[in-house]
Amino acid sequence: MEESTEELREEWTLLLWTTVAVLVPVLITLWCSFQRPKRKVQLKDLFRKSKHGWHYTDLFNKPTYCCVCSQPILQGAFCDCCGICADEQCIQRADRILSCKEIMTQRQTDGRFYHQWVRGNVPLASYCAKCKQQCGTQPKLCDYRCVWCQTTVHDDCLSSLNDDLCDLGEFRSVIIPPYYLYQVNKLRRRHPDEYSKLAAGCGSGWTPVLVLANTRSGNNMGEVLLGEFRTLLNPMQVFDLSELPPSKALQLCTLLPPGSVHVLVCGGDGTVGWVLDAIDTMKLKGQDQFIPLVTILPLGTGNDLANSLGWGAGYAGEIPVEQVLRNVLEAEVVKMDRWKVQVVSKGNYFRKPKVSTYNILYDRPAGGSQAIIKKRIQSSGECYKQSCLDTNVLH
Ligand SMILES: [Zn+2]
Ligand SMILES: [Zn+2]
Ligand SMILES: [Zn+2]
Ligand SMILES: [Zn+2]
Ligand SMILES: [Zn+2]
Repeated sequence: MEESTEELREEWTLLLWTTVAVLVPVLITLWCSFQRPKRKVQLKDLFRKSKHGWHYTDLFNKPTYCCVCSQPILQGAFCDCCGICADEQCIQRADRILSCKEIMTQRQTDGRFYHQWVRGNVPLASYCAKCKQQCGTQPKLCDYRCVWCQTTVHDDCLSSLNDDLCDLGEFRSVIIPPYYLYQVNKLRRRHPDEYSKLAAGCGSGWTPVLVLANTRSGNNMGEVLLGEFRTLLNPMQVFDLSELPPSKALQLCTLLPPGSVHVLVCGGDGTVGWVLDAIDTMKLKGQDQFIPLVTILPLGTGNDLANSLGWGAGYAGEIPVEQVLRNVLEAEVVKMDRWKVQVVSKGNYFRKPKVSTYNILYDRPAGGSQAIIKKRIQSSGECYKQSCLDTNVLH
C-alpha cells in the first residue's frame, strides 16, 4: 500500500517536471513575441520624432560599430543622412547625444564653413586626407568622415589636418549648402535677383540638383537611392515622393536662382509622368522662370522610358550613385517632346470603360514613339484608340 503511494508521487513529480520543461520555453517565446512588436512600435515612434533619418536593418552589409558603445554590431539602426549607426540598446542615447547633418545653418562668425565630422564606419576604400593611407582598416569604431565633403581622416591625423574648412567636396556644384537655405530663409524680399546674389556665395557654375524618387515604384532601389543621395547631398534637396507629392517638392525651385536647377527623377513611367504634370502646373501658376531641367533615372523593369532611352531594364545599382551624379552634371540636354495619349480600357458588362491619360516621352527625332505606345498598350491589356493620336496635345 505504502509502496504504491510512493510510486504515484514519483509519477506526479515526473509529470510536473515534464510540464514545466515544456511550458517554460513556450512561455518565454510567447513573451518575446509580445515584446517585439512593442519594441518595434517604440522604435518607430522614436524614428518619427527624431531629427535623424533612422532606418532599421536586420543585417548591416559591412562591418559596423555602434557610435555610442563602440561595439561591433550586426543589426540596429543607421541614419542615412549623417551615417551614424547604433544597436537597439543605444539608439535612444545616440539620438540624444549625436547631432545630424545640419540642413540649414549659418556660416561661422568668420564667414567660413567648417567640416562636420562623424566618427567611425567610414566607407570601404576611403583614404586619409592627411597621410593618404586607407581609413577604417582597424576592426573598431575609428576614423572620421565629413558629412558634407565626404573627406575621411584617421583619428591620429585629425588634429594635424591643417585645413578644417569645408568646401563641400566633389559635388559642391550640385549641393544646396545649408548656409544658402539659411540666408534665403532670412530674406526680407523673396526675389530671384536676391537668390542670384546669394548664389554667388555658392561658387561659379552652381547648378543645384533636386532628387525626386518614388520608394513605391518597382524594387527597393528607390529607398536605397534616397539614402545614398541624402548622404552625398543636403537631405533637404532629396524627396521621397511616397511622402511628399512632386508639386510640393518642386516648390523648392522657387527659392533657387531661376534657370540653374536640375531635377533628377528616379522611378518608373508613372513617377516621371507625375513629376512632369507637376511641372505643367508650375507653368499654370506663372512660375515659368523657375522650371527646372529634368533628368531621368529609370527604375524597375518593364519600363517604356528605360527602353526608349536604351537602358533595357531600369537602374539597379550597377554604377555607384556618385557616378549617377557625375552623369547628371555632364549630361547634354536633350529636348524632349511630350505627348498626352489617352488610353481607353475596353470595359465589359461589369465594368464601365475607363479612360486614363498616359504621358509618353521620347527623344527627338522620335522614330520609335509609336512602337513604344503600342507596346505599352499591349502589355497592359488595354485597347488603344488610333484616333487619339489626332488629338494629341503637344507641350
Ligand atoms: Zn551600442
Ligand atoms: Zn543623422
Ligand atoms: Zn567637409
Ligand atoms: Zn592619416
Ligand atoms: Zn531615409
